[in-house]
Amino acid sequence: MNTGNQTFNEQADYIAQVHSRGGRITTAKKLAISILSQAEGHLTAENLCDSMRPSIPKINLSTIYRILEELESYGLVSHTHFGHGPATYEIKAIEHIHLICQICDAEESVSQTLFKNVGKELLLKFGFKTDLSHFAIPGICKNCRSKSIVN
Ligand SMILES: [Zn+2]
Ligand SMILES: [Zn+2]
Ligand SMILES: [Zn+2]
Repeated sequence: MNTGNQTFNEQADYIAQVHSRGGRITTAKKLAISILSQAEGHLTAENLCDSMRPSIPKINLSTIYRILEELESYGLVSHTHFGHGPATYEIKAIEHIHLICQICDAEESVSQTLFKNVGKELLLKFGFKTDLSHFAIPGICKNCRSKSIVN
């Protein structure tokens, strides 16, 4: 659980990290960080733009993408593709793997540690470093499986 205070500290920490990487602290960037760190789950660039518009009416998508790209380059934000939808963004606080149901579009997050061995094997045997959080793993959720004849 996040208390308001913790969220505030986190935000201050993210802003400090932008500063230490030589990034400019702008009102838009601060607001983006604040919205992303309070968001439950993932936001598309458009979601973020809509949430920022009341405070910054002139904000546009290209500015949002530039901010997201910059925050990603600092490792503060990461994006994930759920199915064929647009990329979704979140503060990179806890590494997790995403699952997406191909029938009902339900999204779920699971711990990265579940895939630790897969990652280790691929690195060991193929020298391949996986990035499993970039795309959601498609499949059929428990709910949909219980409703379907073929499970
Ligand atoms: Zn996520
Ligand atoms: Zn489902
Ligand atoms: Zn991508």
